[in-house]
Amino acid sequence: MHDVVVVGAGFAGLAFARRAAELGLAVLVLERQEKPGDRVRTTGILVREACGEWTVPPELVRRIRRVKVYTPTHRSIELERRDYFFAATDTPRLMRHLARETVGAGAEIRFGERFRGATVEDGHVRAKGTDLRCRLLVGADGASSVVAESVGLDRNTRVLKGVEWEFEGVDETDRCLHCFVDPECAPGYIGWVVPGVGITQVGLAVHSRARARLASFVERISGRFGLSDRRVVAKRGGIIPIGGLLPNFYSDRVLLIGDAAGMVSPLTAGGIHNAYRYGRIGADAAWTHLRDGGPHPGEALRRAYPKGSLKRLARWGYDRLPVGRALEAGILAHTLGRRVAGAVFFGREGSDTIAGASAEATP
Ligand SMILES: Cc1cc2nc3c(=O)[nH]c(=O)nc-3n(C[C@H](O)[C@H](O)[C@H](O)COP(=O)(O)OP(=O)(O)OC[C@H]3O[C@@H](n4cnc5c(N)ncnc54)[C@H](O)[C@@H]3O)c2cc1C
Repeated sequence: MHDVVVVGAGFAGLAFARRAAELGLAVLVLERQEKPGDRVRTTGILVREACGEWTVPPELVRRIRRVKVYTPTHRSIELERRDYFFAATDTPRLMRHLARETVGAGAEIRFGERFRGATVEDGHVRAKGTDLRCRLLVGADGASSVVAESVGLDRNTRVLKGVEWEFEGVDETDRCLHCFVDPECAPGYIGWVVPGVGITQVGLAVHSRARARLASFVERISGRFGLSDRRVVAKRGGIIPIGGLLPNFYSDRVLLIGDAAGMVSPLTAGGIHNAYRYGRIGADAAWTHLRDGGPHPGEALRRAYPKGSLKRLARWGYDRLPVGRALEAGILAHTLGRRVAGAVFFGREGSDTIAGASAEATP
């Protein structure tokens, strides 16, 4: 019997598995994809804090120093925080790197193994259709978690839809994350252009009921980024939970982490840092739980996870207030507007340290 079976070799599953294996637990990861990084569903931008959680070889990332925010009529302003950066990643290679390090720590990963359900029996969990048994089942299987469904835990209901195209080539001089507030093409969130590792990523995220009009968005920005004569080399999409941590994300012998548990910022829709961080914290707590009969790791995660009421309020405001019009009216030219935008993009301290912000009218 394994101590832990983790379903999903994504960011959360691998972070949990690596740490649990380092601590000496017998860990098995089941992943439905045939190999790591086979089907990527994310833009893969790491916030600086995520780079501190799990070191990434420099050739897999490209540092991005500034954020350029565009109004619906494409006026723009650049924001920057001293010493802060985002990292665009070569995500398929990053996933291979994370999987290698997880195996190096002592975990076993079985690729091409789809989890189909589980039953909780006396003192252990059994995976349906297999002879696999474990003391703790960890659902790190993304926003539409089969683990959650099979054991009756909560599932994400408030979600955004994200779509992205990858264009060949990149402007090597561009170190900006371009964010478009565009209520027509991206109702509910934003459109983006990321000068990535050898490629340019263009995407948008929208409310779950809205249509993601990526082709129209690309047409709108094509001249600015010289996209018209460049080939699309990959397309991807997925859903992003924005309802916050689910109330029931664990039960007796089961724990959800990452997107499966709703561990995504409702405001920025970023989830990779949370997946790393709470994957690791969950593994620490699982070790104490399984070794010493300590509290359920879900309790430790609930305590560690931020309440997020401010972010949820900000999400409420973004959904209901005329943000596009406020930006057009020049809100970012004012100190308070910049501070708010800084806090969204650069985190809590962003408001104090924005440097070199500049307003630019480029309709
Ligand atoms: C378009 C888009 C862009 C995004 N961009 C960013 C970004 O730039 N930065 C950021 O921080 N966040 C971003 N996010 C969010 C981020 O991708 C997620 O929060 C993050 O991937 C969550 O990691 P996870 O490990 O919880 O889930 P996932 O990354 O979804 O991993 C789940 C894994 O479980 C596997 N799996 C699922 N079901 C089964 C099964 N039944 N059996 C076995 N395996 C299974 C899947 O194949 C997958 O490998 C984006 C999301 C989308 C959709």
